[in-house]
Amino acid sequence: MSEKFQAVVIGGGPGGYVCAIRLAQLGFKTACIESRGALGGTCLNVGCIPSKSLLNLSEEFHKTKKLSSKGIEIGEVKLNLPKMMKNKEKAVTVLTKGVEFLLKKNKVSYFKGFGSFKSKDEIIIKDLENKEIIINGEKIIIATGSIPTSLPGIEFDEKVILSSTGALNIEKVPNKMIVVGGGYIGLEMGSVWSRLGAEVHVVEYLSHITPGMDREISKEFMKILENQGLKFHMQHKVEAIKKNNSGAKVMTVSKGGEKKDFDCDVVLISVGRKPNTEGLNLKSIGLDLDEKLRVKTDKNFKTNIDNIYAIGDVISGPMLAHKAEDEGIAVAENIAGQSGHVNYDTIPGVIYTSPEVASIGKTEEQLNEMKINYKVGKFSFMANSRAKAIDDTTGFVKILADKQTDKVLGAHLIGPHAGELIAEIGVAMEFGASAEDIARTCHAHPTFSEAVKEAALSVDKRAIHS
Ligand SMILES: Cc1cc2nc3c(=O)[nH]c(=O)nc-3n(C[C@H](O)[C@H](O)[C@H](O)COP(=O)(O)OP(=O)(O)OC[C@H]3O[C@@H](n4cnc5c(N)ncnc54)[C@H](O)[C@@H]3O)c2cc1C
Repeated sequence: MSEKFQAVVIGGGPGGYVCAIRLAQLGFKTACIESRGALGGTCLNVGCIPSKSLLNLSEEFHKTKKLSSKGIEIGEVKLNLPKMMKNKEKAVTVLTKGVEFLLKKNKVSYFKGFGSFKSKDEIIIKDLENKEIIINGEKIIIATGSIPTSLPGIEFDEKVILSSTGALNIEKVPNKMIVVGGGYIGLEMGSVWSRLGAEVHVVEYLSHITPGMDREISKEFMKILENQGLKFHMQHKVEAIKKNNSGAKVMTVSKGGEKKDFDCDVVLISVGRKPNTEGLNLKSIGLDLDEKLRVKTDKNFKTNIDNIYAIGDVISGPMLAHKAEDEGIAVAENIAGQSGHVNYDTIPGVIYTSPEVASIGKTEEQLNEMKINYKVGKFSFMANSRAKAIDDTTGFVKILADKQTDKVLGAHLIGPHAGELIAEIGVAMEFGASAEDIARTCHAHPTFSEAVKEAALSVDKRAIHS
């Protein structure tokens, strides 16, 4: 007899484990199946957390080297890469173990193994020793996430041709690294290795980096990264990558037909991620995928099969951990008969480079396309007293508000702690706030958040400090 659960979640990433906990909180007998041997998914194991650990440590290294110019002499600053990697692994282990504890605390049954559908309510779990059991789920939630994509005909070996996973585990600082793709993962990992001493070249097919980002911010961001030493080759397409004794040759051609080859130690291919539905046996149960091979769901995360739902990177929408988490909570509440909901207009996106870049809501380009009349308020960190005090004045805050109603429609920040500052605007937008609401909210002095207030004031041309 197979064990019966009221809810079975396949995948223990931020979508899956959060969903399992919420289901258990709502009284469901819940199971969570995870195949990688550790919970937390891409995010905790090979994504958000290890990348942020390396971003932080490489930034500390870089900043410490420059301290003598500010009057702090600490002698020669040396890199111990194996120790840095151990520190990163420690952060990952502590967090993945923490999630295991949370599942236990909430009485979620955790199955370590690979799940696939036997029927629409039965899951075969092949455990890490290849032993099989079958469990039964009244409701099943697919939260199997995504995996990196490569270029046609090019395979990751994770030594020379790297996905983001390989780029988190390079054993020796490369002399030269080529990053294919100017999206956030490529720029974050490129920044890490550049700060640690590599010469980093970014090859990007489009004319701008970070597609989808407000163009003014994207331009400023590229300028800042160039000043930090990253080299950009825009409108260049990779035609081939050939491995050789010293690494690889990356062959590119520009939009105008000019060929350019790059010799390098390693090449990071960060051109996107694809939904992970491999081995789930979805065809046999007749589950529909969309044109991009994502699991197709309705607005309540229900698939075309009545008792099966899907959330996170495996469905449409931005591939972000917090989006997956919010969908995990919403689907659990919907299953419990409540009104789970995700507001896709207020999902922030953050790039954890230095300075950080953060955005929420509509870009100027989107508003123009939608023919919405808007006002722009901007404030530079150059005029922010806290930024001045600590000599970290790069970037600005930009708030977009409806011309008639003053309602905040979007915000785009580049600068110190932008990833934290965006939360205030997220709350404001959730409450349907106007730029004036933010402008009339008292902000502590001296803080970076005063730049948000001043940008909100600037929407109606009444900023005080500029
Ligand atoms: C380098 C990098 C940096 C990132 N940084 C950020 C960031 O700073 N902020 C942010 O919001 N997002 C970031 N992301 C994206 C984020 O990691 C994903 O959006 C998020 O993990 C998606 O969550 P998920 O639960 O949908 O899927 P995943 O986290 O991918 O989890 C899915 C899990 O399902 C398991 N699984 C798959 N198939 C099966 C099966 N058949 N049976 C059992 N288990 C299965 C997988 O092993 C995996 O652990 C980053 C990603 C990368 C690669």
